[in-house]
Amino acid sequence: METVALVTGGNRGIGFAVARGLGERGLTVLIGCRDCDRGAASARELVSAGLDARPILLDIADDASVTTAAKAIEKEFGRLDVLVNNAGVKLEFHPSPPSQASLDLVRETYRTNVFGTMSVTLAMLPLLRRSNAGRIVNVSSGLSSMTLASVPNSKHADKCMLSYNTSKAAVNSLTIQFANELRDTGIKVNAADPGYTMTDMTRFDGSRTPDEAARVIIEMATLPADGPTGAFYDNNGPLPW
Ligand code: NAP
Repeated sequence: METVALVTGGNRGIGFAVARGLGERGLTVLIGCRDCDRGAASARELVSAGLDARPILLDIADDASVTTAAKAIEKEFGRLDVLVNNAGVKLEFHPSPPSQASLDLVRETYRTNVFGTMSVTLAMLPLLRRSNAGRIVNVSSGLSSMTLASVPNSKHADKCMLSYNTSKAAVNSLTIQFANELRDTGIKVNAADPGYTMTDMTRFDGSRTPDEAARVIIEMATLPADGPTGAFYDNNGPLPW
């Protein structure tokens, strides 16, 4: 029986690298995409490399789209083994003092990063419960870490992008809340920080490639039964919340 993975925002950037990495490990990968043509083109690239990948229309900020995608996965596979909550937005580019934040930008960011991630998780959970080894990976960011940001004058303290950083801190909290509820079910829920990566989100100003960034996410998505749950990792190991 195939292992089925859904990667939200899997059509480009880190999500696409995760989709490829999971496909290379033999998983059937559903590439969540907001645009059918872009998703189909990304899936074709993986299929032409011999991988099992298919596009699935999924706008995580649109509840109807999320429900439709969950129904389609149920109809085709009857379950879901891996959910990678990768889709996200960062609408601020430069750090600025929190006192100058735009509430509209915060709302818009939360619509995708927080409510979208929550909506997909809730919709897919019944399908993950049917898996023998369900895995949820929430793609977070080092910028979310309250522990790191609370050190005055540190690199993290100086990088305030209020909407993005706090949205990812909420994603971290979601990770812990779901991990606690699901601890006895075999479903593992973890957060992963891919690190500063060359994608559209950073205007390609990162320190690593999407493939390098994807490593920790792929690892958390394919954890063995004795792996962690309710944890936050980057490529070097555990991170402080
Ligand atoms: P990216 O290149 O901008 O790609 C973002 C992906 O998310 C795209 O596929 C985009 O789809 C999708 N997306 C955005 N809003 C969506 C929505 N409402 N519904 C469905 N899909 C949506 O960004 P990335 O750098 O690969 O980032 C991937 C994840 O890593 C994000 O969660 C980001 O916060 C996190 N991260 C990135 C970095 C970094 O340095 N790049 C660092 C730490 C964490 P479209 O193609 O349709 O726009």
